Parts: sequence; C-alpha cells; structure tokens
Amino acid sequence: MSKYFNSFYKELTPYTPGEQPQDKKYIKLNTNESPYIPAPGVIDVINSKEAADLRLYSDPELKPLKAELARAYGVEPKNVFVGNGSDEVLYFAFMAFGEAGLKFADITYGCYKVFAAVNGLKTEIVPLKDDLSLDPSDYMDSGKAVVIANPNAPTGMTISLEDIAEIAKSNAGSVVMIDEAYVDFGAESAVELTKEFDNLLVVQTFSKSRSLAGARVGYAIGNEELIADLETLKFSFNPYNVNRLSMAAAVEAVKAADYYKDACGKIAATREWTTKELTKLGFTVLPSKSNFIFAKTPDYDGKKLYLDLKDRGILIRHFDSARISDYNRITIGTQEDMETFVATVKELLAK
Ligand code: PMP
Repeated sequence: MSKYFNSFYKELTPYTPGEQPQDKKYIKLNTNESPYIPAPGVIDVINSKEAADLRLYSDPELKPLKAELARAYGVEPKNVFVGNGSDEVLYFAFMAFGEAGLKFADITYGCYKVFAAVNGLKTEIVPLKDDLSLDPSDYMDSGKAVVIANPNAPTGMTISLEDIAEIAKSNAGSVVMIDEAYVDFGAESAVELTKEFDNLLVVQTFSKSRSLAGARVGYAIGNEELIADLETLKFSFNPYNVNRLSMAAAVEAVKAADYYKDACGKIAATREWTTKELTKLGFTVLPSKSNFIFAKTPDYDGKKLYLDLKDRGILIRHFDSARISDYNRITIGTQEDMETFVATVKELLAK
C-alpha cells in the first residue's frame, strides 16, 4: 500500500474473483460462465465495421439496447438502466439506495459486502437457515435497503414471487434489490412486480444465460425514478460505461431469445443429471435453479476435492468461509464436461 492511499480505503478487503488460470487447459466449472458460445448473430455483429467504429464514443444513453430490453420485458426504455456488468449496476444501486444501510444474507454474492464497504455503507447480515435456504420473514420491515440474490449464489436456491411481493410491500420506505443473475436457468423473474412496487429493482446480466461474461453488460429494471437515480450516478462517473462492441453484442443477444432458451434448457437438463449422479455417490446437493450446484460429501474434504480435481484439470470453486467450507460450487458445463467431472469424482472417491 502506498503512503498516498486514501485512509478511508485502507481497511478495504477487495473481492477475490474465481481463478482464470492460463497455465493449461481446464474443464472450467468455477466461475458460472456458459459452456456454450454466444448466438450466431452476436458473433456476426462484432465485425470489421463495428471495430472501425471504435474510433467513435459509444452511445452514452445506450438507446438501442434499452429499446431491445424494454421490448423483451414488456416495459418502457425509461424503466431500464444498463451497466458495465451487473456488478456496476449493483454498485450504483448500493450508492444510490444504501444510505440507511443494506441488509443481505451471510451466504450470498461476495461483492455485496465489498460494494457496501467501499461506499462506507452500514450492513445488516442475516444468517441463512441451517439448510442454507433464505427465510423471507427475516426481510420484512427492514428500515434499510434489502438485497436478495434469487436464485442465491452459491446455493442456487430460490424464494417465491409471492415472498418477493411481500418483502417489497413491507419495505415501502426502502429499495428492495433482487439480483437475478441466474434467473434464466429455471427460476421466476420479479420483473412484472416492478410495475406494482415502485421500490423494487430487478438486476440481471448478460454474463450467464447469454454467454457474454467477457462483454461486461448488465441491467436493472424498475420504476423510472429509481432508474433516473442510477443514471445520475452513472453520468457523474463514467458516461460511456458500456463500449460499442458490447452494446452491439448485447442487442443481438436479446434478439436471439430462442437460441439462449435452448442453451438454458440444455444446462438445466445437465444440472439435473449431475445432481442425480452426485447424489448416487453420496453427495448432498442443494436444490438449484441456477447454472451451478452446491454440493458436499462426508466422504471427501471439500477443499481437498477442489485441489485434487484441479490437479486433474477440472476447476470448481471452493470457499474457505464459515458454514460452507465443506461444500464446492460446481458450474454446469456441457453434458460431456459433466460426465468427465462425475467420472473423475468417482475415481477420487474410490481411492
Ligand atoms: N450477481 C451474482 C449473484 C453473481 O454471481 C455475479 C457474478 N459473479 C454477478 C452478480 C455479477 O455478474 P456480472 O458483473 O458479470 O454481470
């Protein structure tokens, strides 16, 4: 740390992203990326004309993408905010709506506590239940902003739309953010509820179900006044927050809904197959509606399983955190990837 670093940030513990090792080729099941390439239209649009246009700034209002998202979700463009990954969207939302503090689960997406800390926002951390499900009654009348990942990460578990409506209703004085990064793999979206509740903000991403993690595009849907607040922060920080290539790719990705529905269907089917196979091997696998599963077995230490699989060219994610160090989070790859994964786990268990 330099002697010049702002003392406000000195205690900050930054987020640790999943490994992106370059030493050899792994079956990569550690950062919840899609195993399928983007839709053909997405790949075609990143052409030499678009590349030549990089000399021009991107559209700071992101009009074509907002229009496409508004059409797809049955809302108006003024109800859509677009950011550089949903991380940026969540960051702005924490800045905008976290003044009275933020409430979220002890086991959830790790960036929440980092985004709160970097902005000096107070947090109330609510333990998940013993079975790692989230109790909606813990989030009623919070007196501060509420953040819920639905499906949650790294558990993959969901709460119902009825519960989300109740939470939004009982927190009328605060914003309720529903992070739907993984919603397309089998959960129900709360986007429709944003028409009923002006304090409900739904955040989604192109990184998972639309195979565009490297493009960095995310968005929020909500009441136009909430969206205007997010725009105020964006235009006070980085007006051209989404680059030209990423916006063009994202527009085509929204248009290619059928392609991605098919890919999500394949991932969900492979998830169910993997869950069944691991259960047969004695694993406890939490009921996931996302593109990953969270699993543990009494027969093999969680961290050792992660390390032994890494040695064999398969990367999964292990968290050295309280309550979940027995578990591993395993992204669902192609059926072939998962057959290799299950066969390798079998070999390790037999040793
Ligand atoms: N929310 C959750 C729950 C996530 O797991 C992630 C991905 N790590 C994000 C948001 C951020 O994703 P991105 O910035 O790629 O949209």
